[in-house]
Amino acid sequence: MNVSQTGQIIDGKAIAARVRETVAVRTAALVQAGARVSLDAVIVGANQAGRVYADNQARMCAEVGIDYRLHELPAETTQGDLDKIIDTLNADPVVTAIMVHLPLPEGVNTEHVQARIESSKDVEGVNPANIGNVIYGRRSLVPCTALATMTLIESTGIDLAGKRVVCVGASNIVGKPVAVLLMRAEATVVSTNIQTPDVPALCREADVIVTAVGLPGLIRADMVRSGAVVVDVGISRVKDTETGRMRTVGDVDFDAVRPVAGWISPVPGGVGPVTVAMLLRNTLDAAERAAGKSGD
Ligand code: NAD
Repeated sequence: MNVSQTGQIIDGKAIAARVRETVAVRTAALVQAGARVSLDAVIVGANQAGRVYADNQARMCAEVGIDYRLHELPAETTQGDLDKIIDTLNADPVVTAIMVHLPLPEGVNTEHVQARIESSKDVEGVNPANIGNVIYGRRSLVPCTALATMTLIESTGIDLAGKRVVCVGASNIVGKPVAVLLMRAEATVVSTNIQTPDVPALCREADVIVTAVGLPGLIRADMVRSGAVVVDVGISRVKDTETGRMRTVGDVDFDAVRPVAGWISPVPGGVGPVTVAMLLRNTLDAAERAAGKSGD
């Protein structure tokens, strides 16, 4: 038996490009029908990195025909000020999609702000109502990274029903919603966190590993079953030992794991670009629903 194999790359950039193409076509049709497709983003006390991120978001929206409006608030913004802005956006019928850039300044409670966003406009899926609906499989806006993770897994063609999946990391925004989406696909899901004993042994049994921790090198080749699907959500900045330059890596020891895996997503170029594309798709979904065009 030939045990040496090279895992196929799950190309997040190509998948994201296809999602954006579809979004652009559907957006054009909705605008043609007289609706407005827009994203209202709120940023508080933006630093240089935050502005670059918002500029990129504006460019991505423009590329697919989504109207992007950035509401820039000063660093001194209080919880009460931010509540008022969110309430105004919630009440404005022209606004169909809202997102709030993180981090928020000290003294502003992030979860409180997220829960205040009207659930039908919450395109990042951070309002607990949306996350609750994910459990029931009801129509809801699902957190973008979780949607991206599922899209990457599904792109491999694997039938998740009955498969063993280990989620490494169980945050509210990634690990938990991914685990729920996988359960909905009738996979057998093991959700692990920092307290879980012997994560490597659990991983070795898995047909699919999803890792979202932020620890470079966490997933080693000896933790991966031959042929498994490995999706890496982690993002860390490390210093390259050869060039001395900073570079972005995931949780997976990519070069060592690839020969063992059946499919593997790289970092960068895996989950990241698809997450951005999912924000655009959620924005369009919210606009379609507001215009009564979603069919449900
Ligand atoms: P978080 O810090 O909120 O949660 C980390 C989780 O990992 C926790 O559940 C913790 O218990 C668990 N954990 C820590 N060490 C562990 C270990 N040794 N074994 C098993 N579990 C362990 O993180 P987050 O917000 O979910 O982000 C996780 C990573 O994903 C980060 O690197 C972040 O940058 C990245 N991320 C990427 C995207 C994207 O679009 N690609 C989006 C969000 C987050």
